[in-house]
Amino acid sequence: MNPTTDLTASVPAPSGPPATDSSATSRSAGATAPSSGAAATAVSARGLVKTYGRGEAAVRALAGVDVDFAAGRFTAIMGPSGSGKSTLMHCLAGLDTADAGRIVLGGQEITGLGDTALTRLRRDRIGFVFQAFNLVPTLTAEQNIVLPLDLAGRPVDRDWLADVVGILGLGDRLGHKPHELSGGQQQRVAVARALLTRPDVVFGDEPTGNLDSATGAEVLSLLRRSSREMGQTVIMVTHDPVAASYADRVVLLEDGRLAGEISDPTPENVLASLAKLGVA
Ligand code: ADP
Repeated sequence: MNPTTDLTASVPAPSGPPATDSSATSRSAGATAPSSGAAATAVSARGLVKTYGRGEAAVRALAGVDVDFAAGRFTAIMGPSGSGKSTLMHCLAGLDTADAGRIVLGGQEITGLGDTALTRLRRDRIGFVFQAFNLVPTLTAEQNIVLPLDLAGRPVDRDWLADVVGILGLGDRLGHKPHELSGGQQQRVAVARALLTRPDVVFGDEPTGNLDSATGAEVLSLLRRSSREMGQTVIMVTHDPVAASYADRVVLLEDGRLAGEISDPTPENVLASLAKLGVA
């Protein structure tokens, strides 16, 4: 296949890896990252403000967040409970709208889009991996994986499907229904479903929260491989320093603001940074 052509055809505004991204050279030929319309930033937020409730009951979940997420990188969002992680992710993914500020995703400003446009944006340009795997129980693994494309009326790129299924080790499980799969296998199906549409960003919301540590490690390795080998941008909310250590970078939130970041995170340096924010 010709990944560049396929990608241009199937994704409205592909964002490629940064031109200086040295990992680009190590990506496999069969699963090449976007190479046209390369943009260094997959998602950026400026001055993001979100308040829930009014008057005395008002809670400022985001108090002016400026943050960029580089294309092709795996970033974890961390911070104390209530610091705004989920709100930030939901706003970036078009699941919620901010009160003020701008979000640009894949080169397109998404703030101000109406419900229909946001629905289309989520369907066409974003992949989700949730804590609950959210598979359709009556469909096989393969049917679940191709469901977003089917719903969008988009053709399935069989070569890309084979690449994704191969990397995720699901080749012998495609005919199984979710209840015939382990939790780890179900989450791998969810990861495959998220990757198959070649989204601008895959968002993970505590994607290993329902998995034991060994299975969780497997899923995190796959998310890391999807960024390193496929050039996939991944943004994951987690409270787990070990999970965060699989990312290239950790963004820390506190009281709805950016409170720092860690490049090359390890469980130890993430724990130390969280401790400074008062997380036990
Ligand atoms: P985190 O994901 O870091 O735990 P959240 O983004 O869920 O933080 O929440 C940030 C703040 O906003 C918290 O104080 C929370 O109680 C509040 N909040 C979140 N969602 C809502 C909501 N739907 N209604 C009212 N308050 C909310």
